[in-house]
Amino acid sequence: MTRSLSLLGATGSIGASTLDLIRHNRDDWQVEALTANCSAAELAQLAVEFDAKIAVVGDETCLPELREALAGSGVEAAGGAQALCDAAAQSVDMTVAAIVGCAGLAPTMAAVERGGTIALANKEALVSAGDILKKAVDRAGAILLPTDSEHNAIFQCLAGNDIGRVRRIILTASGGPFRTLTGEQLQSVTREQALKHPNWEMGAKITIDSATMMNKGLEFIEAHHLFPVGLDNIEIIVHPQSIVHSMVEYRDRSVLAQLGPSDMRVPIASCLAYPDRMKTPLTPLDLAAIGSLTFEAPNEELFPATRICREAIEAGGAAPAVLNAANEIAVEAFLAGQIGFTRITAVVEETLARYSAAAPGTSEEVLAIDGEARQRARDALESSTLV
Ligand code: NDP
Repeated sequence: MTRSLSLLGATGSIGASTLDLIRHNRDDWQVEALTANCSAAELAQLAVEFDAKIAVVGDETCLPELREALAGSGVEAAGGAQALCDAAAQSVDMTVAAIVGCAGLAPTMAAVERGGTIALANKEALVSAGDILKKAVDRAGAILLPTDSEHNAIFQCLAGNDIGRVRRIILTASGGPFRTLTGEQLQSVTREQALKHPNWEMGAKITIDSATMMNKGLEFIEAHHLFPVGLDNIEIIVHPQSIVHSMVEYRDRSVLAQLGPSDMRVPIASCLAYPDRMKTPLTPLDLAAIGSLTFEAPNEELFPATRICREAIEAGGAAPAVLNAANEIAVEAFLAGQIGFTRITAVVEETLARYSAAAPGTSEEVLAIDGEARQRARDALESSTLV
């Protein structure tokens, strides 16, 4: 039976992996909406290839280019923040939420409020507005399928078990490209080095987040929202091979792990086919060739991001949204060559220290906090202590 799908963030890395799976299972899917921010030519090409009903750019100034590229194709073109939410709210069997950053919050919320099934990759939405998003999920009867590889692994390890019997969730982290460096060496790493992840091919923002370990900190918060086992029962362990994608320990000390290639098509396929399984074009895991799987404790002195994230979620209220916004600004500044690598987490910590706000009760309030925190982070970027 053909199922309908909308893909938010179609031109990104998760978007490409999702569309590759659809390409290999073309008869099973009808693509409704594909979205991007401003990659209009690429979006138009994908919309035509996948016979989408509508293509949407978030940045309205890119709409004329999209319209021109789609002229005569029969694919409708739209642009702007409202158009993005309208596309996300369309009735489909599956919405893949793969916009990067807090920019994905409003469209993800629109899909949730419609009561749809959402494959959620956009972790920043959950970090910034976890409680609000979860309440909306319950209210609307929506289904969130965790797409992040670690959370998808946990989701798979929990299947058929009572979450009340879980003793610990163990989130694995590759440790990123700088795991073995000294503090002094970390001071001088370049943008190019940081953009080369040892195991995963991903968008620029999450690749930098992986290098600082902020990604793991954001995932700690994400795990807390998705799997209510208590913050003290979520642990992070470094596993440089990225083969074990996370683990669940039960109260009898039995530990279940999910293994697979370091390829996002595996967790995406698990979401697309859920609760069934679909074929993927991936080569099977060759454990003999991999040889050994190793584990080590994270080094929070060199990589403080996981501590900062733990403190932010313990503080609760607006802190996770402030943290996320500050990190987005700091990563942008690092990618633009404005600050050094170790300044990223310093800017985040500085912003959290300088700005607190009342706990948000709606996603609009989260976005207001996000906007203010971005400004505070820009101020922190310019502060003499951080240059
Ligand atoms: P990319 O940077 O590769 O792609 C981001 C997508 O979002 C693009 O389609 C981009 O459009 C769109 N976009 C960016 N900004 C906006 C905006 N303001 N409004 C509307 N659309 C926007 O990111 P990834 O695919 O790597 O990551 C997407 C999400 O998935 C992130 O939250 C990430 O943390 C999460 N994730 C990613 C993994 C991966 O392997 N890549 C693994 C696990 C989670 P355009 O091309 O026009 O800029």
